[in-house]
Amino acid sequence: MADMYETIAWGKKSKDSKFGLMQIERNLPGVDDVTFDLKFCGICHSDVHIANDDMGITNFPVVPGHELAGVVTAVGSNVTKFKLGDKVGVGCISDSCMKCSSCNQGFEQACHGGMTITTDSKIKHGHIKTNSGYTYGGFSGSQTVNQRYLIRIPNEYPLELAGPVFCSALTMYSPLCQWKANGGGMTVGVIGIGGLGQMGIQLAKAMGNQVTAISTTPAKKPVALEIGADMFIVSSDDAQMVSEANTLDLILNTVSANHQIEHYLPLLRRNGVIVQLGLAFEKHNISQIPLIMKRLIIAGGGIGGIPETQECMDFCAKNKIFSKIKMVKASELDEVFATLVKKNDQVIRYVLDIEGSK
Ligand code: NAP
Ligand code: ZN
Repeated sequence: MADMYETIAWGKKSKDSKFGLMQIERNLPGVDDVTFDLKFCGICHSDVHIANDDMGITNFPVVPGHELAGVVTAVGSNVTKFKLGDKVGVGCISDSCMKCSSCNQGFEQACHGGMTITTDSKIKHGHIKTNSGYTYGGFSGSQTVNQRYLIRIPNEYPLELAGPVFCSALTMYSPLCQWKANGGGMTVGVIGIGGLGQMGIQLAKAMGNQVTAISTTPAKKPVALEIGADMFIVSSDDAQMVSEANTLDLILNTVSANHQIEHYLPLLRRNGVIVQLGLAFEKHNISQIPLIMKRLIIAGGGIGGIPETQECMDFCAKNKIFSKIKMVKASELDEVFATLVKKNDQVIRYVLDIEGSK
């Protein structure tokens, strides 16, 4: 197509295939669009769920990646906020209807027409295009999006650390704000100290809260304390779970595998809130009695809108909040994905080095 160009990408041709190099098409920038060269892309556990077709809805070939960071190479004539050479990024949201009340209020993730997710999402609003009709993610050479979905990365913020802000930090920042932990003075628990959890600890601490890390991996304790946790609980240690009962106002649950949340509810104080953030597909079996007795709330959260993403980026820059990352090349993607499936047993966000993989 005349308005498209080709770029490289790393993706999977089927659920069981390995990652390989491929060519994909992106749209040339229209008047409101920005094209940027990708330098780095964070690897989220959601990429694993998609690439391994955990939900049974993945379109193949699939190119994962929704923590994009790079440098602007072209701008449309209506673009005023960005110029060539700017450090920019994109998170989960690449398009939305731009006219419903959710979009108008900056909650594009809840667009009434359905947001277009950066990876493997049907193209329906027309501001982003590919040759297949569904989106290809950030494990690729470049991307073009409408300027509305672009996040400015402050100059002093290392580009290789910026991608994880757009999904892992945002997914923690948004519920911390929604449930009023951004004013500080609360006790906040974070379950699962992987990519999301490590940002949850740092953000909750920087907001002025007392933070408890809740993990299945005792070896993560030193790092959890180093990045700001005041307390570390091993969730399989019954004595610890009993002694820490009724201590937490808010829990951010990032567990990436099937589990039962009833195990964690005793940790909540009266009126406590647990926010379900991990994509566990098996149903929870919950007795409503503890909910009734302690007036508990089971909530959910999904990323955040575009204004909140920029707010989260600026908060991380101001408070020097950085993800602990391990940079990997495209040749290591199969190994990284297998490690995440087994369990991310280190306090690490893997980041794909795109320049270094070419
Ligand atoms: P990750 O780096 O793989 O970390 C997940 C952590 O969950 C692991 O490090 C582990 O922590 C814990 N865990 C794994 N299996 C467990 C089990 N069977 N029982 C208890 N704990 C277990 O993953 P991530 O990138 O942080 O993502 C976490 C989840 O959030 C994924 O399901 C992802 O798809 C989802 N997600 C959701 C949103 C959203 O908007 N809601 C956004 C991004 C990601 P410990 O070793 O400390 O126990
Ligand atoms: Zn993600």
